[in-house]
Amino acid sequence: MRLHFLQSGYIRTWRHLLVRRAPEGERFTVPIPFYLIEHGKYRILFDTGQRRPEKEQSPDEPFIIEMEESDRAVNQLKKHGIAPQSITHIILSHSHGDHVDGLPDFPELPCFIQKNEAVSPGGTALLKKNPSAKWHIVEGDHDLCGDGRIILLATGGHTPGHQSLLLTLDNGEKLLLAADAAYTETALEQYPLDDAEKRDPYWQSIARLQEFRRQGVRVIPGHDPETWEKLQKR
Ligand SMILES: [Zn+2]
Repeated sequence: MRLHFLQSGYIRTWRHLLVRRAPEGERFTVPIPFYLIEHGKYRILFDTGQRRPEKEQSPDEPFIIEMEESDRAVNQLKKHGIAPQSITHIILSHSHGDHVDGLPDFPELPCFIQKNEAVSPGGTALLKKNPSAKWHIVEGDHDLCGDGRIILLATGGHTPGHQSLLLTLDNGEKLLLAADAAYTETALEQYPLDDAEKRDPYWQSIARLQEFRRQGVRVIPGHDPETWEKLQKR
């Protein structure tokens, strides 16, 4: 299995919007990751990156997309010598633009999404916008290839049907691509404050990721600039 850490530009935002309990007023620029997994005959994209906004974004907007045409996932694949036509499957963590807006560049592929996401307003709009995708709606954890090496993990909370991806590499090491179930390393170290938070699906998914970490799985957060820089140097 080969895993490629790819990027589709940046989001310029505020730290407190991505890091719970962070003080307000600090700028935060984060990468927009997406991943290519090559495993046997499978060439899987986990998320598809962002598209450049058609309209100029106001500097007052909370999330500003910083990317060039060359940062589109399809163009990033080409830049890394990977033919976009060679992709066989798409897995989408959830329906937010920085994860799905690149999907129209990969038409007619099997595309895996959780049921709770597909029936949410964001998911419904996504499916409508991409009628040529061969949608596979899964419920809960799902073993993609049947060999236990690529598992879709239900980690709802960030959105109703968010999912993460658990990979077992050739050396046996396990890697969990959390996507937006945990934006940053800080999120993986936080705990609910009270019983109401404990019942919140977001915190239940954080607890799930923390349990994987305790078992020795490396958990990669979805938008942590420092972690991302280290991964790209690997
Ligand atoms: Zn995101």
